[in-house]
Amino acid sequence: MKKRLLFVFAHPDDESFACAGTMAKYREAGHDVNLICATSGCGGKSGEYFVTCKQELATLREQELSQACDVIGVTNLYLLHYADGSLINQDINEIAAKIESHIVQLQPHVIVTFPPNGVTGHRDHIAISRATEQAILQSEEKLMSSQYCTLFFASIPHYYDYCADSAPTGAVPITGKVNIVNQRETKGRALHAHRSQIYSVNRAYPGVMQGDYGVIGQYEYYTKVRADGLFEDIQESTEGIPEIELC
Ligand SMILES: [Zn+2]
Repeated sequence: MKKRLLFVFAHPDDESFACAGTMAKYREAGHDVNLICATSGCGGKSGEYFVTCKQELATLREQELSQACDVIGVTNLYLLHYADGSLINQDINEIAAKIESHIVQLQPHVIVTFPPNGVTGHRDHIAISRATEQAILQSEEKLMSSQYCTLFFASIPHYYDYCADSAPTGAVPITGKVNIVNQRETKGRALHAHRSQIYSVNRAYPGVMQGDYGVIGQYEYYTKVRADGLFEDIQESTEGIPEIELC
């Protein structure tokens, strides 16, 4: 049965850092992979590119995101066009309502977003996590229980190996890992599409911008948070992180 997955992130490139391998894997298996990106990434550094204004950078980053989505095979990309860095100051009810309308329309089987600490502690990541969780709870008031999604948080433990100074506190336990051994190159090419982010990609994934994808690991990491309208009892596994499928 064809499944629908919805990934909800704050910036162009979040999807590639966190989940590109998983997204490509489910697309290759014939499922629909949708992405909501809340901001245009106009606060990011522009790398080697000369851009004269934030609007130009926003346009460039949306183009790069579109290219990364082509690499991954994203079915539908939805841009909310918020200003980079502004999410925490926006009305969370408004952001949640926008996400909720996509959930009600798409009726995804699986939704993936950042955990409450945002992985990197970035305030936009924290805001999108909160807004997505709120949107899911609101959507359940409108959908039948058979249409409820399963919610996962995506974590990037690899990131802390290279950017330990950026690690926030309050990480949720990781409860499963998706094997992306056959999608490592696709993930590398998706990251590579975010050329204006050469500094941050090089920092977390050294070599990728030079076309060397050896640093990309075999797994992407998740926490199952909510299923069938109930929050999971999240427990850290004592016997290693099990390999899972999202659907
Ligand atoms: Zn981000």
